[in-house]
Amino acid sequence: MSMRIYAYYKDSYLTKLTTRVNDIKHIDNDSMWIKLDDTVFYPGGGGQASDKGTLNHLPVDEVKREGDDIWHRLSSTDSIKTGAQVNVSIDWPHRYYNMQQHSGQHLLSSVLNRFGYPTVSVHLGDIITLIEIENGVPEDQKLAQIESEANALIRAAKPIQMHITSPSEAGHFPLRRAPVEVDELRIVQMEDADCVACGGTHVRNTSEIGYIKIAGTEKIRGRVRVQCYIGKMADEYFSGLHQSSEALKKLLNTDYDDFPERVKQLLADKRTYKREKNKLEQTILEWKARDLVTQLEPDAPVVHHIPGEHVAEQAFYMARFILNELQKTTLITANERFYLGVPPLTQKDAREFMNEHGQRFGMKGGGSPDFVQGKAKNLPLEQIEQALHTWLERS
Ligand SMILES: [Zn+2]
Repeated sequence: MSMRIYAYYKDSYLTKLTTRVNDIKHIDNDSMWIKLDDTVFYPGGGGQASDKGTLNHLPVDEVKREGDDIWHRLSSTDSIKTGAQVNVSIDWPHRYYNMQQHSGQHLLSSVLNRFGYPTVSVHLGDIITLIEIENGVPEDQKLAQIESEANALIRAAKPIQMHITSPSEAGHFPLRRAPVEVDELRIVQMEDADCVACGGTHVRNTSEIGYIKIAGTEKIRGRVRVQCYIGKMADEYFSGLHQSSEALKKLLNTDYDDFPERVKQLLADKRTYKREKNKLEQTILEWKARDLVTQLEPDAPVVHHIPGEHVAEQAFYMARFILNELQKTTLITANERFYLGVPPLTQKDAREFMNEHGQRFGMKGGGSPDFVQGKAKNLPLEQIEQALHTWLERS
């Protein structure tokens, strides 16, 4: 049996058709599947989405192929009967976008193949098209060469022809990959570029692809995906880049070729400022710590809270400084964290204080005999100061 040849298969540019309802399948009250004598609706496949459109001005919600038949799903079930004449029409911008993406993918796959990267699978997305290849990641220089050759073939405006043939005749064509077995084959031939058996929809000339921009590569399941913007999406990609570039030009007061150098310098400056800021903060904390100590009785613990957000690091620094440099018992809190330092000269173990009082004050944490840190909410500083005092004075 020979494969059915539908209107879309013969002519990708056919957008409307008057045909007859061949069969109807009712699924439920809300929708029905319609088989037509012929159709302009591509049912999807080979990484390309199916068509959108209308049947007698009613929206077609879904199209699918079942064996040799193509079925169209409609949500309204009235008024359409088997044998009736109907007008079908596809959403042309949607279809043309798919034709551009699909033909662009053919062209790029053929160039990738010539460079030793055969295509394994493709995904034509709404924004980006992904081509999964074998044999690893092409070097940047090679990718640039591949992109340049693909675009040269677009500029050369090569015709794209379709030949409906049979498997025996298909052998005469220089096919890029072995065809999937079907009774009747359609060969899609891009002059000087590509030749494959394919049932999808294509533009007539490589110039209609517009432009191909390879945006990058990603590794996935041991294979490599080439990310590319084709046709209309390449335009949008460039326009987005241009907008960002114009904004950066103003912000950085330089042209785009200087962006990397300028940003590198800014990041280096930021690191320097951060280092200097930390040093200054530490100096202030040390000064503050000494000031706190002078206000206390000689053996009293230094209990202090640092208010504000993102100050836990400062609290840690202050506690370590009071412990190591000033040899004082201290409890510093900040951002629901606490740092407890108990110098060895007290002959006390900070963990012991935690065992005795930690639960009472809601302190959770751990550490060494001279330093314990952890989490605690709203510590009652006066009570804890009193507890520390008593604990230190006990022999
Ligand atoms: Zn194709």
